[in-house]
Amino acid sequence: MSKILINIAWPYANGPIHLGHVAGSLLPPDIFRRYHRLLGNEVWMVGGSDQHGTPITVTAEKEGVTPEVIAERYHEINKKAIEGLGIEYTLYNKTHCATHTEITQWMFTRLKENGYIYEVEEDEYYCPKCAKFLPDRYVEGECPKCGAKNVRSDQCDSCGTTFVPGDIISPYCTRCGSAPEVRSSKQFSLRLSAFEKPLLETLKKNTYWRPNVKSFTENFLKGGLKDRSITRDMSWGIPIPVEGEEWKSKVIYVWFDAVIGYLSASVEYSRMIGKPDYWKEFWKDPECRSYYFIGKDNIPFHSIIWPAMLMGTEEGLNQPYDIPANEY
Ligand SMILES: [Zn+2]
Ligand SMILES: [Zn+2]
Repeated sequence: MSKILINIAWPYANGPIHLGHVAGSLLPPDIFRRYHRLLGNEVWMVGGSDQHGTPITVTAEKEGVTPEVIAERYHEINKKAIEGLGIEYTLYNKTHCATHTEITQWMFTRLKENGYIYEVEEDEYYCPKCAKFLPDRYVEGECPKCGAKNVRSDQCDSCGTTFVPGDIISPYCTRCGSAPEVRSSKQFSLRLSAFEKPLLETLKKNTYWRPNVKSFTENFLKGGLKDRSITRDMSWGIPIPVEGEEWKSKVIYVWFDAVIGYLSASVEYSRMIGKPDYWKEFWKDPECRSYYFIGKDNIPFHSIIWPAMLMGTEEGLNQPYDIPANEY
């Protein structure tokens, strides 16, 4: 009997799931799960709702409720829909919970102790009228490349250009409409550059990943891995586990916390069944194969960033065995 860990991309809790989720990232892993169960393998299938980030806070402000209300509403709706379809997760978890907070903070601390997380000064938009720093979706303006209006301050959806603060033309605060300033703010950054070589080495030996996943990952790595900031000035998210007043108004950035959900859901389930260390069977036994069923937009997070984070803990956590990303 083999052990199989199936990880499913986390739907974002800002709206109901649609047919694309079902056909793209829910049905294939459930078929895979049933197949391995028939073979007599021990199978865990984990995932859940991605509940942090600015789209949820934007919706909450529009409705005049807390972000938690929005995140819980769509978590419940999506959980019921998935159960109704007969897709049987071992645990359909959520990122706004105590265990996920604990595991995310543990990983942050391990990476920091190992020298893979460090402090940086970053430019960010700040609205003097709202007296707030404005993460990505709270600033819009004109795309300097294609001229599209009302584009987000981090990316133009029309032409795909990505921006840093100061790039877009005539920026305005989406909360009050006034012009923001660019100010410097202290953040933490993930030393992704340290993993470029080891990840390329591992990829070279890989003979079985889907060609689209392998070539995308290879091109991404060959373009050079840049360090990325993993904290933000906002209150909805996981608190930064570092002492000091200056960190109290910041949280861990959603992309860093969401991928940790696979691990935290496994830990959570082990605790639920009264075997708190059983998750190690799926995460530390090299014989266990872990599969990640995701959409193609998520490839770099699962083939580069998550493997780098796992490696950086230096805890012997299993790397993804395969990443069957769909093309939709
Ligand atoms: Zn554009
Ligand atoms: Zn404002």
